Amino acid sequence: MKIHEYQANEIFKSFGIPVPDGKVATTPEQAEKIANELDGPLVVKAQVHAGGRGKAGGVKLVKTPEEAKDAASKILSMDIKGLIVNKVLVTKALDIKDEAYIGFIVDRRSKKPLVMVSASGGIDIEEVARETPEKIHRFIIDPLYGLFPHQASELAFKLYDDIKLVRKAADIILKLYKAFIAVDASLAEINPFVVTSDGETWTSDAKINIDDNALARHHDIEKMRDSTEAEKKELDAKSKGLSYIKLNGKIGCVVNGAGLAMATMDLIKKYGSEPANFLDIGGSSSPLKVVNALNILISDKNVKSIFFNIFGGITRCDDVANGIVEALSKLNIDLPIVIRLTGTNEEKAKEILSRTDLITVSSMAEGARKSIEIAGK
Ligand code: GDP
Ligand code: MN
Repeated sequence: MKIHEYQANEIFKSFGIPVPDGKVATTPEQAEKIANELDGPLVVKAQVHAGGRGKAGGVKLVKTPEEAKDAASKILSMDIKGLIVNKVLVTKALDIKDEAYIGFIVDRRSKKPLVMVSASGGIDIEEVARETPEKIHRFIIDPLYGLFPHQASELAFKLYDDIKLVRKAADIILKLYKAFIAVDASLAEINPFVVTSDGETWTSDAKINIDDNALARHHDIEKMRDSTEAEKKELDAKSKGLSYIKLNGKIGCVVNGAGLAMATMDLIKKYGSEPANFLDIGGSSSPLKVVNALNILISDKNVKSIFFNIFGGITRCDDVANGIVEALSKLNIDLPIVIRLTGTNEEKAKEILSRTDLITVSSMAEGARKSIEIAGK
């Protein structure tokens, strides 16, 4: 789960990580009021679950409450990477002298926490990683022992020569690791980690992603959830026993079993198209699940054809076929549907489907090719 910068700031503060004073606003008038309270140069920042807000015009430096109001009215309702801005953070501006990067992630390769630091923070860190990977310093942490102060110092020396700054940065690295572990984050980063002209260190952009599987023990964080429209659909699907992830292609997939769903997506890519989604309807063949699955797919305007790929094991193919027929009689679907059903009671299923105008195929590969072909360019 992603949380906003202003929410991450609160978590940071509770771990003693320095964050400039600020408050969140949903209207330009509120932003003006906050600016009046805070006084001095400020930054108005879009609160959306996306990076690169600065480049998109979603971060504006202002000097007066009037300017803050004006900036907020420009940023609110802005579209950043397909996300609409509903909130802005109004925060004290920093007199930035240096921008570094500090980040913790769970590293899949080593299956351990990984800390990364770079003196080249501020700008797109992915670009630094791509163009000049030597500028990013990595250290894999043994989760049993945690991060030791001398290890944090060694990392901080990669950022600064000045021993005062090294000590401050090492302290923040340790505190950030503590926060990262305590909230079960999958990512916790500061970019940029700032040194101001008076030699102080600050967090200018806090980011935390929480491991969804750990949310059950973080009710306070769960309450911070601010879902995008796409995420709302995914949560709704989950509540109906479906595993659904929206993707950007045009072939809608309805599959039973996560492994088969992955294989189906791979095949669609192999034959030159893109899946519109991952969708696992699970082991049951209940018509209601099929109706719910189809409802989700037809609400996605990108979908041009639907591919059912069902393997009947314990699930009987004739049950699924009946489910599909029943579902289609309830819904008004114009999209072409390709069905591959194999396994238990396959023949019966084919007979049921032969009475419909659905396209039946006998292999996965054929199904993938067919659904791509009829989806068109
Ligand atoms: P991002 O683009 O979504 O990563 O948003 P950031 O919060 O990192 O802001 C982008 C950039 O705006 C930073 O790298 C800074 O250069 C600049 N910026 C943000 N806050 C301040 C500030 O308080 N003072 C100054 N001078 N620049 C800022
Ligand atoms: Mn940033």
